Amino acid sequence: MKIIVINCGSSSIKYQLFDMNGPITLAKGGVEKIGLNGSFIKHESNGQKVTLEGEIIDHRSGIEYVLGILISKEYGCISDFSEIDAVGHRVVHGGEKFKSSVLITDEVIAIMEESTQLAPLHNPPNLSGIYAMKSLLPDVPQVGAFDTAFHQSMPDYAYMYAIPHSLYTKYAIRRYGFHGTSHRYVSERALEILGKERTQKIITCHLGNGASVAAVMDGKSVDTSMGLTPVEGLVMGTRCGDIDPGVMTYVMDREDINRSGINSLMNKHSGLLGVSGVSSDMRELETAAQQGNERAQLALQMFHYRARKYIGAYAAAMGGVDTVVFTGGIGENSDTSRYEITKGLEFLGLEFDREKNAGVRGQEKIISTDASRVTAIIIPTNEELMIARDTATIVRKN
Ligand code: ADP
Repeated sequence: MKIIVINCGSSSIKYQLFDMNGPITLAKGGVEKIGLNGSFIKHESNGQKVTLEGEIIDHRSGIEYVLGILISKEYGCISDFSEIDAVGHRVVHGGEKFKSSVLITDEVIAIMEESTQLAPLHNPPNLSGIYAMKSLLPDVPQVGAFDTAFHQSMPDYAYMYAIPHSLYTKYAIRRYGFHGTSHRYVSERALEILGKERTQKIITCHLGNGASVAAVMDGKSVDTSMGLTPVEGLVMGTRCGDIDPGVMTYVMDREDINRSGINSLMNKHSGLLGVSGVSSDMRELETAAQQGNERAQLALQMFHYRARKYIGAYAAAMGGVDTVVFTGGIGENSDTSRYEITKGLEFLGLEFDREKNAGVRGQEKIISTDASRVTAIIIPTNEELMIARDTATIVRKN
């Protein structure tokens, strides 16, 4: 069975074609700068990498490019579209309706359109990808995998905001959480690697440009750090994470900025970038901090401290913790961050092994001591594979 996984952002499309017998990746790549000058596609297949420029005005033409390159003689890996058995789409917001991945039908699309209000920046490009695939490969089944779905198992006392209840009933304002496919993948993979039962209490730290922590008990997410939107929780590349909402109204008054200005301040100019004034990129920050830049050092301390607090909070929420997983660009690659975040967690039973941790990048590895009661482990995430697996399961069932 061959499955293509599509992830449409506002000006990009990432794709990966899997042969589920394996599973192996037959091809992967991305279209960038859609609708802008200088759009291009980066494609990788059969160990060959290529970048092709083209005028890609919208998601539909982007997907046409992707399909075209997949069957091209020079760079392709399939001879005909009929070889594609199904399409899996990443969808950012599934609202309260989608608790797992689903076969995309007209009814599902209508519900997704409704959820667009909750994610006005993310869901429209996801939907564009779905519409484009539907028209280009009309007979191929499509599946939607939602970033929010895994966290639908949170109890109400964890997902409700302490604001008037009518705002929940009127507008579905509550915490949803994101990165669900990643938290699910790494928590399931942790059980596989460690040979443990689902009863484990796992804290998964997805640390990338966007970052979130989840508490996973009995295989279910019981809490996560992001909320109605991906701004809540950890200090991120450019997002502020948890903050007194009073700060925002105060800044709006003092700086005389409007709703869109404050939105941009919280999402694009805060976090590691805002504090350091150097960069949102962890590698650049670590270099600046080593060179003595005090604000870069402060930003890093804040990032590590906030993540550590969440680990403590989620251990309390679950009545303990058995495993802490690190994933995402920072979690997988920054040994300093993993060390700093877990510093002082011996009281929880986590004994970190600095030697095992040192220099590890992008590989599955236990980084706690053999004697540690709590296991700390690095697991590179693979959201695309998870989406492909869900797609295969759903298509086979239907
Ligand atoms: P996104 O949320 O955009 O998917 P990623 O998961 O790719 O983000 O993570 C990007 C982050 O990972 C950046 O801050 C980057 O600096 C960091 N990162 C990648 N490689 C390393 C490394 N070797 N050391 C430290 N940080 C790294």
